[in-house]
Amino acid sequence: MQERVALVTGSSRGIGRTIALSFARRGYQVVINYHRNREQAEEVMAEVNAAGSRGILVRADVSQAGEARELIEAGVKEFGRLDVLVNNAGINHDQLMLRIQDEEWERVINTNLSSTFYCSRAAVKHMFKKRFGRIINISSVVGISGNAGQAHYAAAKSGLLGLTYSIAREYGSRGITANAVAPGYIESDMTASLNAEQRRHILSGIAAGRLGKPEDVAAVVLFLASAEASYVNGQVIRVDGGMGPF
Ligand code: NDP
Repeated sequence: MQERVALVTGSSRGIGRTIALSFARRGYQVVINYHRNREQAEEVMAEVNAAGSRGILVRADVSQAGEARELIEAGVKEFGRLDVLVNNAGINHDQLMLRIQDEEWERVINTNLSSTFYCSRAAVKHMFKKRFGRIINISSVVGISGNAGQAHYAAAKSGLLGLTYSIAREYGSRGITANAVAPGYIESDMTASLNAEQRRHILSGIAAGRLGKPEDVAAVVLFLASAEASYVNGQVIRVDGGMGPF
């Protein structure tokens, strides 16, 4: 494989970290992005190097258009190309809709959804030139079904699907694909706060009988990024251990 370059937003922790390391182990050069956790991001970078791959570390708040653009440009400046963009950075802040303040709505929408627009817009023009590109957006099953207590988060994750379909249609003829991955419940800091009762309830609805691991998501992302996935475009792939609907 020609040395391809993958950029993963929010790769200091959790699912993004595992995705970035999976790329590094497959021989990709990687752009690691963090927002608040520099120390953890540095640990990821050390693992990238230990895997024999090259990477750079870029601090950027991707909910801000200017910072998102600078992140993409930093990757292209370093490696001269950008083949894969994984829009993974995200936050949740569970709250019944009646209690969601305007600022919280905007923060959740901007971090999960606007960030993906900002990064994808900046990345596509570089992918254009190479006539190859893979945009992979990390949505959620709640973007398909909705969820009580997550109106803003679910709206953002649904919005990601419309954005994915539109990018797929606009740039499919240029060798660029856009797909979404919709994870169910995955072990990470985001799900660490679930209490025992919530966990029991969630597990009862998962055919696999367990929560997912970040590796379960990374495996699908790696496939979508590959040359072999060139005819998969504008799709949403659920990675939820069988939560249905089937
Ligand atoms: P974590 O909370 O474990 O990690 C979130 C990551 O996003 C961190 O690296 C964090 O960086 C980064 N991040 C947050 N805000 C920003 C920002 N403004 N700019 C740049 N980076 C930011 O989350 P998960 O790994 O669990 O989730 C990853 C993605 O998967 C999210 O989009 C989430 O919505 C989605 N998802 C997760 C599920 C789950 O069950 N865990 C289920 C379905 C979807 P830092 O720490 O440096 O601030």
